[in-house]
Amino acid sequence: MRAVRCTRIPAGTKIAAVDSTPPTATGGFRLLLVEDEPEFRAILAALFTDEGYHVDVAGDGQRGLHLGLTRRYDVIVLDRGLPAIEGLDLMRRWRRHGVTTPVLVLSARGAAADRVAGLDAGAEDYLAKPFDVDELLARLRALRRRHLDVARMLPVGGYRLDLDTREVSDAPDHAGAGTAPVQLSERECGLLATLAGRPGQVFSRADLLTGVFTEAESPIVVDTYVHYLRRKLGRGIVDTVRGRGYRLGRDPRR
Ligand code: CA
Repeated sequence: MRAVRCTRIPAGTKIAAVDSTPPTATGGFRLLLVEDEPEFRAILAALFTDEGYHVDVAGDGQRGLHLGLTRRYDVIVLDRGLPAIEGLDLMRRWRRHGVTTPVLVLSARGAAADRVAGLDAGAEDYLAKPFDVDELLARLRALRRRHLDVARMLPVGGYRLDLDTREVSDAPDHAGAGTAPVQLSERECGLLATLAGRPGQVFSRADLLTGVFTEAESPIVVDTYVHYLRRKLGRGIVDTVRGRGYRLGRDPRR
């Protein structure tokens, strides 16, 4: 998979805040499609790819859960009737693990009660099948825009990480604020953004290698960059979970 990168973005430019790929017509946004019907999945994936998205697909709820928890997406399109884990149950699991990526539910179940259930389970939008393709694409653009506005500033304990400038600074509401911002390298920023995007989740070295670095590199590169982050931001910024991997420090300031 593509590495997570922090890129400098000119003010007002609508492109993905965390992505290593060059901007395309829709800015190289990453989309996860969870749909079990193979033909429909292929049609939708082709449609989204044509629109300029980088598309990952999952054919069942278990695969969708794994991808949603280990990779960063700008938007998720989710079917309800899925093998392994039902769609709304899957979304609740993502939300419990801190996944805030906007989700559009695409379902044959389009009654008012079904829509209410979907929105209550954590979906940002709900579209009943059959649907108009242009409307689906427009709704995805709207979701992405709303999400980008909040995604550029990631809370990291008492800090916040600016994905545009790669600076870590005191959160505005933090008592005793006023220390100078800390500048991160592209890879330090990608690593911290991945951990901070799922507070509480433990990432294995393999997860971080595929999500932040490249699969060709040795897992030791992950340990090296954890060391760099701790040197710049304090030991508490990243927790080591023995035998499992790393997670965001529960109190990065300790
Ligand atoms: Ca289905």
